[in-house]
Amino acid sequence: MSEKEIRKLVIVGGGTAGWIAAAAFARLLGKQLQIELVESDAIGTIGVGEATIPQIIRLNSILGFDERDFLKHTYGTFKLGIEFVNWGKISDRYLHTFGDAGLNLGNVHFHHYWRRHALNGASESLWHYSLHQQAASQDRFAHLDKVGNTQMTGLAYAYHFDASLYAGYLRKYAEQKGIIRTEGMVQSVTRDSESGDITAIGLADGSTVEGDFFIDCTGFRALLLGQELGVQYHDWSRWLPCDRALAVPSERLPNLPPYTRATAHSAGWQWRIPLQHRTGNGHVFCSSFTDEQQAADTLLANLETKPLDDPRLIRFTTGRRQKFWAHNCAAIGLSSGFLEPLESTSIHLIQSNVSRLIELFPRAAVNPADRDEYNRRTIGEFEQIRDFLILHYHQTEREDSEFWKYCKHMDVPDSLTRKLRLFAASGRLGRDVDDLFKDSSWVQVMLGQGIMPADYNPMANQLDDGQLAQFMDDVRRIVEQATSKLPKHADYIAQHCAAQ
Ligand SMILES: Cc1cc2nc3c(=O)[nH]c(=O)nc-3n(C[C@H](O)[C@H](O)[C@H](O)COP(=O)(O)OP(=O)(O)OC[C@H]3O[C@@H](n4cnc5c(N)ncnc54)[C@H](O)[C@@H]3O)c2cc1C
Repeated sequence: MSEKEIRKLVIVGGGTAGWIAAAAFARLLGKQLQIELVESDAIGTIGVGEATIPQIIRLNSILGFDERDFLKHTYGTFKLGIEFVNWGKISDRYLHTFGDAGLNLGNVHFHHYWRRHALNGASESLWHYSLHQQAASQDRFAHLDKVGNTQMTGLAYAYHFDASLYAGYLRKYAEQKGIIRTEGMVQSVTRDSESGDITAIGLADGSTVEGDFFIDCTGFRALLLGQELGVQYHDWSRWLPCDRALAVPSERLPNLPPYTRATAHSAGWQWRIPLQHRTGNGHVFCSSFTDEQQAADTLLANLETKPLDDPRLIRFTTGRRQKFWAHNCAAIGLSSGFLEPLESTSIHLIQSNVSRLIELFPRAAVNPADRDEYNRRTIGEFEQIRDFLILHYHQTEREDSEFWKYCKHMDVPDSLTRKLRLFAASGRLGRDVDDLFKDSSWVQVMLGQGIMPADYNPMANQLDDGQLAQFMDDVRRIVEQATSKLPKHADYIAQHCAAQ
């Protein structure tokens, strides 16, 4: 255990992870810590990571960002969810929205009423009752906390933004808060001979940067936690086999759909992220089942607007570090592990690990109990998200390519099998209480991927058949009326937060 008091924090890396860490530490512990961020312009950042989940609103509010200003400066748009195309089977399509479908009644989730209604002969999908789905399918968006004077909650949303502008926005904030930024390539690491703790990093120009605690935000290199401290990587490719992405920007979509699209192909999937000035696109694929040329051809053939550049290749291995904090060093961002971008969770993981580290940050010396707790909770979070991602690949009828045959027939973690069996039997949910993905997410993705529960919760029988039909009609009418009052997303952006 290090006995040295922690006064100087060194963050190595200036991608999204490094600057989120810098901004949040400056905001919440800046009076006690001197903070220096070291980054190398020669190495640069990964430059992707443009779709988020609603938790980012909390980060922005802690940092005191004004939403309009933030969206103007990052060419941002609003996001109501992710549309999955061709996943359960070819021509399937569903939206994993950020909100509940319908209206929960009593203690019973809406999907149980919906299932009972379907068993009575109704043919509408759950998404007919989803405000998010109806708004998204008509390219509509506005801030809406509550639907009129009903019990129905309004629109939960996240953002799409330009990744490099986002890092720049965070940097400006952090520098205004007193963070020191040093440009330089780290070439050596000095450690205490007794404790093994990191004491300094050496830069290419011969200078050194000393510190008491280090955050490794060096991306896939994992320079400190991986390379220097030797913390191993757990490879999860057997469950999440995609290991490459080709990213390419294309021209703006005129209607600015307020959602990300993830279209499954024969050996992976393609993202489409609408921004104010361009569209982000990428093909995530598995190199054991297709080659780069084929993957590039597929990507370009499926663009909806004209490409603005050549596709850029990114290699990765899905998995996580065995530990996320060792000695006096924590890894955050791609250095800590990577869960592929299917559910836009990486920036959230950065944010949640930064907030966990701040919560458990040592006042004086590093305490192993704090460190163990940090590792325990972070491992849990990675594993829960992993299971949710595997669900999309494994729960499919597709067998039209070797990739999909593999995904359909692979063994999956018991923690996921248990949830699938429970939902298939009764529509009940077995998610962990602290799972990032709430009940409504599990319901939508399990239904969307083709699991139809055999039964429903008997508490949904509290309504008689007539009352049930009336309730379903009322919900549907409320959703339709609320949707029709929303403006078009593109108009809303133009009016409130257009980039200049
Ligand atoms: C294909 C793909 C798509 C993605 N899509 C999404 C998405 O939609 N949503 C989402 O939330 N996330 C997404 N992500 C993840 C997201 O891109 C990353 O989580 C995010 O960009 C953070 O990256 P980082 O800061 O950890 O690493 P990087 O951006 O790689 O930054 C690393 C930093 O370390 C510095 N560095 C490295 N070595 C040295 C050295 N020796 N000396 C000095 N400095 C050094 C570099 O200069 C750089 O500043 C995606 C990732 C991939 C691969």
